[in-house]
Amino acid sequence: MLLTLTRCTHTSNSKSASTDSTSTLHQTVPAAGSFDGNINGKAIALYTLKNKNGAEATITNYGGRLVSLLVPDRKQKLTDVVLGYDSLKSYQKKGEPYFGAIIGRYGNRIAKGKFVLDGKPYQLQVNDGVNTLHGGFDGFYAQIWAAKKSDEQTLELNYLSKDNEGGYPGNLNVKVTYKLTDDNALMIIYSAVTDKATVVNLTNHAYFNLNGAGNETITDHLLTIEADSYTPVDKTLIPTGKIEKVSGTPFDFTKPTLIGARINDKNEQLEYGKGYDHNFVLRTGAGLRKVATVMSPKTGISMEVLTEEPGIQFYSGNFLTGKDQDGKGKVSYGHRSAFCLETQHFPDAPNQPSFPATVLRPGKTYKTVTIYKFSALK
Ligand code: BGC
Repeated sequence: MLLTLTRCTHTSNSKSASTDSTSTLHQTVPAAGSFDGNINGKAIALYTLKNKNGAEATITNYGGRLVSLLVPDRKQKLTDVVLGYDSLKSYQKKGEPYFGAIIGRYGNRIAKGKFVLDGKPYQLQVNDGVNTLHGGFDGFYAQIWAAKKSDEQTLELNYLSKDNEGGYPGNLNVKVTYKLTDDNALMIIYSAVTDKATVVNLTNHAYFNLNGAGNETITDHLLTIEADSYTPVDKTLIPTGKIEKVSGTPFDFTKPTLIGARINDKNEQLEYGKGYDHNFVLRTGAGLRKVATVMSPKTGISMEVLTEEPGIQFYSGNFLTGKDQDGKGKVSYGHRSAFCLETQHFPDAPNQPSFPATVLRPGKTYKTVTIYKFSALK
């Protein structure tokens, strides 16, 4: 099999996502060594995983972030399908949208940053209007993980989140393993143990564009989500507690549907999210099962999502602004130029007794697996 990849020097290539097309866009992957640095005495680096088919993933231990993911398109051309930056500095800037990050201790929102566990109230860091989002200011996306490459295709990351970090109770020992398998799948295995009762909801915040990172839009992708219902939100994007049927609404992705087909419909939920930014209630099934498929008609790249989780946040990149030109290869990432499918327990579950529970107690192990599997249609 012949695979081709253009590696660009980043100086020669100043572009905006709004003018790029798949044919002209150069794939750029940060070079090994480009992330080498040190934060508070802890070493940062970029780790590369390669499988036997030439697929490649780079990950930095700053926030455990997936920086690039190269998979073949229908012409066997390796295409980088995740948004990211060329430098560590860009990942650290204020308002950075969690590109490729490991999210914890609690993925998505907790209302007003408050919850009560075993009768005791906790106050988290409020970092998203009146709510806590993705663990608060000290979320796992901004932490430095201990990294070990156990083989060419596997990276193990460990982080000890101390008792009261971000307001959460308990020392939480977290392990996340990224594995790039020979069937072009990126497997993410999460596990955690605690010494005090706490809440845990881990996910990955990769922003995908199956036309290639830096391309203008994802509204031309076909999406299927194995979900008959979703959790509607209030205007601060906290679930109301209701579980509503998707049938007859713009949230029905039970059959392959263009992401853009109904995204601008007049619909209160779409107005609150400025597009899709909702948790879908996945059909139940034994353990790891396929829960979503996305396909780019342009490149033929198809991605299946498999998970053990009960929910998935489908976020259509509504808050990307295209303001900064520091995307990989100096592109800017515009409005809806990527989507996220974050496997998860439901947002605000610590305050919603009817949602699947997210409490982890000492002596128990949190464990969950998610797979993003790629293939190219002819
Ligand atoms: C949330 C969005 C948020 C985004 C951060 C998603 O998981 O649902 O509301 O804007 O993360 O970039």
